Amino acid sequence: MTITAQSVWDNCLSFIKDNITPQAYKTWFEPIKAVKLTDNALSIQVPSKFFYEWLEEHYVKLLKVALIKELGDNAKLVYVIKMENTYGNNQPFTEKIPSSNRSSLKSQEVDAPLKNKNPELKNPFVIPGIRNLQIESQLNPNYNFENFLEGESNRLARSAGMAVANKPGGTSFNPLLVFGGVGLGKTHLAHAIGVQIKEKYPEKTVLYISAEKFTQQYIESVKKNNRNDFIHFYQVIDVLIVDDIQLLSGKAGTQDVFFHIFNHLHQNGKQVILTSDKAPVDMQDIEQRLLSRFKWGLSAELQHPGFETRIAIIKQKLYQDGVEMPENIVEFLANNIKTNIRELEGAIISLIAHSSFNKKEITLDLAKKIVDNYVKHTKREVSIDYIQKIVSDYFQMDVETLQSKTRKRHIVQARQLAMFFAKKLTKASLASIGSQIGQRDHATVLHACKTVDNLASTDKQFRKYVEDLGKKLSN
Ligand code: ADP
Ligand code: MG
Repeated sequence: MTITAQSVWDNCLSFIKDNITPQAYKTWFEPIKAVKLTDNALSIQVPSKFFYEWLEEHYVKLLKVALIKELGDNAKLVYVIKMENTYGNNQPFTEKIPSSNRSSLKSQEVDAPLKNKNPELKNPFVIPGIRNLQIESQLNPNYNFENFLEGESNRLARSAGMAVANKPGGTSFNPLLVFGGVGLGKTHLAHAIGVQIKEKYPEKTVLYISAEKFTQQYIESVKKNNRNDFIHFYQVIDVLIVDDIQLLSGKAGTQDVFFHIFNHLHQNGKQVILTSDKAPVDMQDIEQRLLSRFKWGLSAELQHPGFETRIAIIKQKLYQDGVEMPENIVEFLANNIKTNIRELEGAIISLIAHSSFNKKEITLDLAKKIVDNYVKHTKREVSIDYIQKIVSDYFQMDVETLQSKTRKRHIVQARQLAMFFAKKLTKASLASIGSQIGQRDHATVLHACKTVDNLASTDKQFRKYVEDLGKKLSN
């Protein structure tokens, strides 16, 4: 029998399986794919950097023993991290057992058995005859509509996404701009739209790319003197998905080239889907003409998921991992992690891992510990409600007064300070801040921020307010 990566890994797995709990095995080893075997180095593909870190932290000894059994004392393990599918960004992280020998790192990287292992070569715009070229969509099939749960917080964005997916370029949602804070599902939704389009219209060329990667490619094309090829490449795409468009801030050259590509696609009835962590009105250092293009279609916000949605998302993740968790713990998690869905997922993974690794049951106590640890390490965003409360208390008024329509100077100032801190300390858009602080519009909030800035630099008493409140809010 020939020895293959698969056969070596299968043997490792049966050894590992005997030495850990079924739950840990399912969580941490089933998702791994053996991808390559060269001499005594086995490459395994893991789904995320977190996953890799977890394995290294908790299972490195076990892996080492298993691998040495199979491949001898010089056995090496190479992790290949399948990243979130940014274009050509499947960079392999490599780590070996024993980790003393780093010399093979480079060749391992090149050998990493991933489709886009070499983004430079892959870059189609250096190859003549691009029109015949198959463009890889860079979509992650794990991010689809089925597992993008619907809730009040995402209803508009989700259904607009569905509409676009069913009729790319054929709705008035062009471009579709999905915006919202970190970890609220922008990337997931963007992929889901692309995945669905590919399913429905396999012949359409769909491309998912992060704005960061797009920028890098553009800079590269300028260096190599093939800016036009770069533009042409993008102009033949039917559905262009650009993630995290706010990263184009301040990059005039890239914005300019994107503007041209955008116009071309739009004029030809091609679909453009964008995501951003800010609403268009809040995007800074983005050229006006580009901003106004973003507003041609639909901007849909992903908001913080409500309790029900958080519960549903937790349950789905548990179901996917084949893990059962008592209802009270699910509710505990949903009640205590409200910042975003990524953190919620992180806490669930830690919880499962802790319980399986220490062979403990998942208990409320364990959940509390994890949430404590978890939340300590991640800076929590203060809420706008909390800011209003602190500011009102400070000026000895109640929140209703702060929000009221009165023009009394001290109340106006308190309101402006609340807006200022909301802008400073949260990721909420100007519009959203305005609506939460007494139903004002985004221009009022912008004006408030400027006024506070001005007063703080000219008025000593006022500066003290800002400092005091800043301290209170950072505690
Ligand atoms: P963003 O790009 O906005 O920072 P992501 O799209 O990366 O956020 O989402 C963070 C995590 O939360 C992902 O693992 C994603 O699958 C999950 N997620 C977000 N929204 C939902 C949802 N509505 N249903 C299920 N999972 C979700
Ligand atoms: Mg994202």
